[in-house]
Amino acid sequence: MIFHHSKWPFSLRLFLEFRYLRFNDADNLYPAQCSILFRQSAEIFLDLRSIGIVGRLLPGTLSRDFKRTLIKMNPVRQIAFGYSTQCNIRCGHCVAADASSGTAKMDFDRAKDIIQEMARCHVTGISFTAGEPLLFFDDICKLIQLCRENGIYSRIVTNGYWAKTREHADRVVSELMSNGLSQLRLSYSRWHQQQINRENIVHAALSCQKHGLDYFISFVTDFSKKDDSFEQFLRDRHLKFFPEPVIYFGRAGEFNRQRIFTDYRPNVCSMNPYLSPELDMFACCDAANRFSKTHFLYLGNLCNDNIDALFQKRETHVLYHLIRTMGLSNMASYLGFKAREIVQYRKCELCEKLFNSKENLRILTKSATSDLINWRR
Ligand code: SF4
Ligand code: SF4
Repeated sequence: MIFHHSKWPFSLRLFLEFRYLRFNDADNLYPAQCSILFRQSAEIFLDLRSIGIVGRLLPGTLSRDFKRTLIKMNPVRQIAFGYSTQCNIRCGHCVAADASSGTAKMDFDRAKDIIQEMARCHVTGISFTAGEPLLFFDDICKLIQLCRENGIYSRIVTNGYWAKTREHADRVVSELMSNGLSQLRLSYSRWHQQQINRENIVHAALSCQKHGLDYFISFVTDFSKKDDSFEQFLRDRHLKFFPEPVIYFGRAGEFNRQRIFTDYRPNVCSMNPYLSPELDMFACCDAANRFSKTHFLYLGNLCNDNIDALFQKRETHVLYHLIRTMGLSNMASYLGFKAREIVQYRKCELCEKLFNSKENLRILTKSATSDLINWRR
């Protein structure tokens, strides 16, 4: 009892201090490695069994304070910011394609207010995504400027249509940098490159190297041989790239896909939240509103709720927490899926199987804080 009263809040405070120092470290706000490390540490502190135990041991007021502390020191708040779903190309695999009907764009002044409110709610990273953000170049420059003024790390995800020549690329990259952009993520795949010359990606990457802007190439692949030459193209030019599996939602939902056999891996997901131009907030940026039978990933709309409340919902939702810590495989196994079946699912497919079914969701919700939470080694 004494231990729980005195040591827990102290260790939490220590953790908070450390995290605060690291994440406000000069100009280089939360490099990715730190983000992962600290998110993992935060998840350990947020272990629901601890919340349960401490909650039972502490008298009412202290218990409430404890939970409030957990919310305050919650894992890093980052968000994918969908300023507009408009895009200048039409990729065959686009996951954003049916996120909303037609194309939508956020009101610019509202976007500015939202970023300022996010800063007040301790959001430390914003990734401008959805359609092609740089179609709204001037607006996005002002929004990343605002991020810089508020100490928020900013990233733009772009298809690189603007980097037709090295000169064009240099101009755009230096302007983004002067407005305070932290990182550029270049999308690349055999689908993108049907419409955008792959040399554009090289121009953009080389301009980032020249101007000292952090970048990486997101190489979207279905791991088929068709992608070998695309991968080799990047290797031959010594560019920094990371393979990203196609997610079989949106247009890719219609793709034929081979069954895969993975190791029996936990299928943990960090669940990056997403804000749409219509101000709907989702707990996941890849699936957004695609769990149509249960709306499991929907958090709410900023017209009805404030940002902090929606982040808190994400951070205190028991099943989201278990997805981030326990992983989907254990939850599937608990539900009765055969091990042989689990190893054939891609992560997001398994997630959809579990949570886009009202019955599965009912069982998992009911057992989340009792049997399910103990379904671990
Ligand atoms: S994948 Fe990206 S670049 Fe391609 S259509 Fe979708 S939003 Fe546009
Ligand atoms: S596993 Fe689920 S929560 Fe994670 S990205 Fe896939 S659909 Fe989203």
